[in-house]
Amino acid sequence: MNSIDTILKYIHGSDDFVVTSHVNPDGDNIGSTLSIYYFLKKINKRVYYVMNDGMPLNMQFLIEDINIINSREFKEMNIDKYNLITLDCGDKNRICVDADIKDNCMKLINIDHHASNDFYGDLNHVVAEASSTCELVYNLLMRNEEINNFKYIDKNIATALYTGLMTDTGKLTYSNTHASSFDMAKNLLICGADTQKVVQNVFGSNPFNFYKLLGESLNTLEIINTKVAIMMVTKDMLERYNIDFKDIDGIVPYARDIENVEIGILLKEKSKNEIKVSLRSKSFADVSRVAKSFGGGGHVRAAGCTINDSIENAKIKILEEALKEI
Ligand code: 5GP
Ligand code: MN
Repeated sequence: MNSIDTILKYIHGSDDFVVTSHVNPDGDNIGSTLSIYYFLKKINKRVYYVMNDGMPLNMQFLIEDINIINSREFKEMNIDKYNLITLDCGDKNRICVDADIKDNCMKLINIDHHASNDFYGDLNHVVAEASSTCELVYNLLMRNEEINNFKYIDKNIATALYTGLMTDTGKLTYSNTHASSFDMAKNLLICGADTQKVVQNVFGSNPFNFYKLLGESLNTLEIINTKVAIMMVTKDMLERYNIDFKDIDGIVPYARDIENVEIGILLKEKSKNEIKVSLRSKSFADVSRVAKSFGGGGHVRAAGCTINDSIENAKIKILEEALKEI
């Protein structure tokens, strides 16, 4: 485990960076990668934001001013010396660039808050107790700052960090929210975070068809042994409502937030025999353990995995493991 100071010292002593997300990026992932990207620009480093996946629609307001390229475009630039920074990514396989970009970097810098992170980087700053990776980036940017002298945190960075803090803590309500998280939120407001823009875009901009899809998905909801709720989104539903796989992040809380339910599960049919599973728990069940038994990972209260089987079989398999946690 490397300290923030070790990471900062290495960053200050290097020139070229690639920042990337994990596959199927979420708010914390995008907020933390963007804020590091802006910070590196600010301290006059050469930096590229490279990712193979698309950006969810409700996060696009964050990236209006930046140029995101995919792995092929990066490789065409023939840049042979660069450091790769991954944020909010617990597993090397989930880094959202081609394998050769991971393998050919000078140093791989891994900043994350997943307990399941296996320290795959050359430099690793992993704090499982942190509310979000954005909180770790905030701490890095605040390092050695005099009180109230927010030198590095401009409006763009504050808005990006606020996004990740809000999405990973359920707007400062989940059990990973600590006093430091409120302190961070307060300071981001002082730094000019556009909180209304975050709330309106991230939580208040679902297309009409999303609700049609949600309605159909809610019709599949079942409760097993009073404590586990499971629902699904099939590929057919996504196609019928013209909703992209990356834009259904808001559905799984509906399963979790039912009276007496402890574990909420959403099965998402990415393609035939490729079922992405989202797991959430309310107060005691460890869903990261459930995800890990299928090769996935995540946090105690939010985790995920992929099951390569039909959606019906995936349902039987995941329920069997989930019921062991209640
Ligand atoms: P979500 O359900 O929103 O896709 O993911 C919930 C949490 O679990 C996130 O922290 C995410 O990074 C993690 N996660 C989701 N799927 C996987 C997976 O297949 N492998 C690992 N290691 N983590 C995952
Ligand atoms: Mn996160």
